[in-house]
Amino acid sequence: MPRYYCNACGARRSLIRRVPEPLISTPYQLDKFAKHTILDPQLKLVSTFRSDSTGEYRDLVVSAVNAGSVEIDDRGRTNVICRATKPTGDLYRRGRPVQIQTALCVVLTSDTGEIHAFPDSDTRYTQQLCEDCGAPI
Ligand SMILES: [Zn+2]
Repeated sequence: MPRYYCNACGARRSLIRRVPEPLISTPYQLDKFAKHTILDPQLKLVSTFRSDSTGEYRDLVVSAVNAGSVEIDDRGRTNVICRATKPTGDLYRRGRPVQIQTALCVVLTSDTGEIHAFPDSDTRYTQQLCEDCGAPI
């Protein structure tokens, strides 16, 4: 089962990292940004942002890191997850839109210290509580 922490408890556990400046500079970050802005209809499942603005991308990531919750997934990876006030993007299955995305997932890659984000759904954590303080996620 994934584990969840609210923003304050995640920060206390040093799970939340600062957003690098610039955010899109390395080949990894460029590659991930392209993957989530330019739809590749060959991909089985991918979400793409509604905007290809790097400024909007950065704003979304910064507000998620400042206010979002932490998810430690089943493979031990750390993500910051955050609901947005408007749709962030769309989920596509082999090029066909299947779901509007209204949340953001920021992936904190531990081996390189890099960050990337993609439009996400909040359905998997709507009922979750912070493991430390019990606040709703
Ligand atoms: Zn908490």
